[in-house]
Amino acid sequence: MEQAPPFWERPLASLDKAQWEALCDGCGQCCLHKVEDADSGEIYHTNVACKLLDTKTARCSDYPHRKRAVPDCLTLTLRSAGSLPWLPETCAYRLRAEGEPLPAWHYLVCGDREAVRRAGVSVAGRVISEVHAGPLEQHIIWPEGMEQEFEIEDGQNPWELAEPDDGPET
Ligand code: SF4
Repeated sequence: MEQAPPFWERPLASLDKAQWEALCDGCGQCCLHKVEDADSGEIYHTNVACKLLDTKTARCSDYPHRKRAVPDCLTLTLRSAGSLPWLPETCAYRLRAEGEPLPAWHYLVCGDREAVRRAGVSVAGRVISEVHAGPLEQHIIWPEGMEQEFEIEDGQNPWELAEPDDGPET
């Protein structure tokens, strides 16, 4: 008898809650603030993290209760996973919503939670908390269509250009 595929290869709609949660690779990219141009509607990415993100590990410091401290924290759904243009192309939810396989570095595929860092996808150690950042406009790192100006090469991850968060000066 043929073996059933692992849950991360099955349609998103068939996953239970635990499997859905387990899809997240922990990159932390969705926990960074974006700036929207009020006139054009264009979204600009920043290297500023939500106050709950542990910038050294790229994990939420209070995931079960995050909505208390950050009421507008987005909960990904079947619909939004496939329709949010600012979700990174590497996001497991986006990939699966588009029918694509998880990358080789995803921990569910390779069994190594640190592989996301080595792949250059994790924001760990590369972003600054909103607690210390100041105005978001000063932290825009990858405006659409300005990759040339920022000298971003093909395949390079924008987080590689961000300054690490050393925390407050003492
Ligand atoms: S971008 Fe996707 S994979 Fe990365 S932390 Fe957010 S939900 Fe998880």
